[in-house]
Amino acid sequence: MSENISMKTLFHPSLYQFDQAQPSYWEATAGASGLAAEALSGAQSCDVAIIGGGYTGLSAALHLARDYNIDVRLLEAGHIGWGASGRNGGFCTTGATKVSLKAQLAKFGVEQTRSFYQSQAEAVNLVRTLGAEESIDFLLQGDCEFIVADSDAHFTELLKNAELEQTLLGVDVTIHSKDEFREIGYDSPHQHGAIAIRPSFALHPLRYARGLAAAAERRGAQIHTHSEVLHWHKQDDGRHLLETAAGSLRAKQVILTGNGFMPEHLHPGVRGRPLPVQSAIVVTQPMSESELVQKGWHTQSPAINSKHMFFYYRLLSDGRFMLGGRADHIGNPAGAEATYDELKRSIADMWPQFADLEYTHQWRGLVCFALNLRPSIGRMPEDKSIYFAYGYHGNGVNSATWSGRELARWLAGKTPGNHHLPMHLPAIVRGRPPRFPLAFLRRQYLRAGLSFYKLRDRIGF
Ligand SMILES: Cc1cc2nc3c(=O)[nH]c(=O)nc-3n(C[C@H](O)[C@H](O)[C@H](O)COP(=O)(O)OP(=O)(O)OC[C@H]3O[C@@H](n4cnc5c(N)ncnc54)[C@H](O)[C@@H]3O)c2cc1C
Repeated sequence: MSENISMKTLFHPSLYQFDQAQPSYWEATAGASGLAAEALSGAQSCDVAIIGGGYTGLSAALHLARDYNIDVRLLEAGHIGWGASGRNGGFCTTGATKVSLKAQLAKFGVEQTRSFYQSQAEAVNLVRTLGAEESIDFLLQGDCEFIVADSDAHFTELLKNAELEQTLLGVDVTIHSKDEFREIGYDSPHQHGAIAIRPSFALHPLRYARGLAAAAERRGAQIHTHSEVLHWHKQDDGRHLLETAAGSLRAKQVILTGNGFMPEHLHPGVRGRPLPVQSAIVVTQPMSESELVQKGWHTQSPAINSKHMFFYYRLLSDGRFMLGGRADHIGNPAGAEATYDELKRSIADMWPQFADLEYTHQWRGLVCFALNLRPSIGRMPEDKSIYFAYGYHGNGVNSATWSGRELARWLAGKTPGNHHLPMHLPAIVRGRPPRFPLAFLRRQYLRAGLSFYKLRDRIGF
């Protein structure tokens, strides 16, 4: 099934070094992994094989082993959390689609849109519950997500959306005027009021990923790190054969994950469908509580601003400030340096009181968009023994965890039907996204999109 097209050709090769960890704050502070995981070796077999050890794969492995006693093995190319799950901003918040609320209502109707919004809130709560059930100390912070208006016009727009979300969809939204938000959040020349969405919080993403992996192992799943799947064959007896450098795994069913790092070269059913997009993060030196008060920062909850090319930012548990945003469409180290500098300039512009802080960490990774701008959960129409979930659009702490659990339930036969679409799930997440036309041009499409949205932000449209 493999062919000579590599996902590594899409972005710069420096983004795909499975033997190297990003120099992130999370890697520096996660502590010992405590996992038994070893690389796959020799000829092995299992019922369900999972490709990818991020939240999607780990949650699927944990739920398959713990709730259904299914014989499952997970193959991860790097270490656990090597991908986005170990290097994200730690926002456990809602919002896995870029389809506007109006467009969702027009295409899917009120009931399906409500069901999607409810599933997103349920997904946030699932992370909290898993933390408690599996004793994962992921350093929870805050109790909502703030969306902060960058202008008075944006605040008016936020209020309109908030009203729709409250009345039609039952979302828990609180509105804060500029003056109120200065007291409970922060002040900035770019602060024009905010809304707070619950349930949401912030966590340590790599501690969470490792906690999921340890729980999956404890519950009977076999986790193999440093086990990149290099080849995938379907055998005459209907089994899948996954080959790594040091071993092979035969399985009745496969769950394919990977999101922004999707190994699309392994299967034609996924090729050309994900759109990986770079996101980058910078972190400052720690600040004491009194320094934070003096600088007018009052919240532990994560926040984003209201621009199209928005920033996401939060305090870390030791008083550091973290900010992330979109990076370039190439992915080379020089572009990364330029992005980090731009993020630091943006911090000084948005919060002049932070302008003199030193920076201690910076890193980047890939999130996953899709042509239909929605997350995707399904089975390959051409081979229903292959399940997948990806395309969380920069979200995923909650959505990938929830999607992994939903795949486990579906695979274990706990949900009705033998369709390739998960008809029991909200319509917005069902099935495969379309292939990009001339998929090799995806980075050029991305460049055009980034320029378009930057321009819209500049002219305030
Ligand atoms: C910088 C950044 C900031 C983000 N911030 C947030 C945030 O604050 N909140 C939020 O909700 N989401 C955030 N996200 C997105 C979120 O992290 C992802 O949506 C989520 O982690 C996806 O989980 P996943 O398991 O599907 O994929 P990933 O975590 O990316 O895991 C995929 C795994 O597949 C493995 N893999 C690839 N090819 C192979 C192969 N051939 N064989 C074996 N394994 C393979 C990779 O090594 C990787 O570990 C952010 C992402 C980034 C990059």
